[in-house]
Amino acid sequence: MNREPRKCHVLVVDDEPANRDLLCRRLQRAGYGTSSAASAEEAWRLIGERLPSLVLLDVCMPGVSGLDLLARLRGQTSTRLLPIIMVTSMSDSSDVVNAIQGGANDYVTKPIDLPVLLARMETHLRMASLVTQLESQGRILAHLAAFDDLTGLYNRRSVGAAIQAGCQRAQERHHPLALLMLDLDHFKEVNDRHGHAVGDAVLKELAARLAAAVRDSDVVGRHGGEEFVVMLPDTDARAALAVAERIRGAIGGTPFACNSGPIPVTVSIGASALAAGESVVPCQLLEEADRALYEAKRAGRDRVVLFGQG
Ligand SMILES: [Mg+2]
Repeated sequence: MNREPRKCHVLVVDDEPANRDLLCRRLQRAGYGTSSAASAEEAWRLIGERLPSLVLLDVCMPGVSGLDLLARLRGQTSTRLLPIIMVTSMSDSSDVVNAIQGGANDYVTKPIDLPVLLARMETHLRMASLVTQLESQGRILAHLAAFDDLTGLYNRRSVGAAIQAGCQRAQERHHPLALLMLDLDHFKEVNDRHGHAVGDAVLKELAARLAAAVRDSDVVGRHGGEEFVVMLPDTDARAALAVAERIRGAIGGTPFACNSGPIPVTVSIGASALAAGESVVPCQLLEEADRALYEAKRAGRDRVVLFGQG
């Protein structure tokens, strides 16, 4: 754990110069970096310039009090979790209660017992470092839950959620929306002939070409295996067919470069569309694109079929 005080910077906030200087010197001797502020306003400015590892905050100061500064710091995202230890000269328990309820991590009373203060500081620095680790792990988990590992596209679950939301939005605004379901033709043969590593490389390249062929506002996901789905907001059936043909060309037009040589790849695409003002449940739109895809396969692959016109 983070037990290296030298890496930690403590901001001491106290309106009494003697208190400030003494505390800073003692913390420096214990290995901490320090800076100090004589008022809440000065502390607010310093924190804005450089986020300290921990703040020792005097409760009683003229003007803006320590408790007021505490409330301001807890109210903004960047300092929401900043370790703050209140320093109070009074044995007034209401100050302590207000400080803890206001979001202070801890408190010490003057005169300061340095070993006790250092022990508490270490505890809160350690906890802050754990919280940071947990937050970054949480972000990693959220990413893993939403994106496909191999291709970096949305996975089936998150693209499903995006389609659900996109359909709802389109219907509320009376905008058109289209879905494309793509399937890589004869993918089993690629895997059988070249091995699964090449198969994976082909899927990655296909995903990259697919993402490059659509607008930023379109949503591309891996629906599973060698099947992909694209949601095209504000796009009617005719425009969706044009996009699908462009995708088919971007994939089938140039063989995929792999270690074992170029591999020709084609896709079959099924399209379905929600006309402006039309009402449909999202799973029906997906079902229609899937049936159109089946038609495209049945008709010989490497082609686009719009649902209802197969
Ligand atoms: Mg004071």
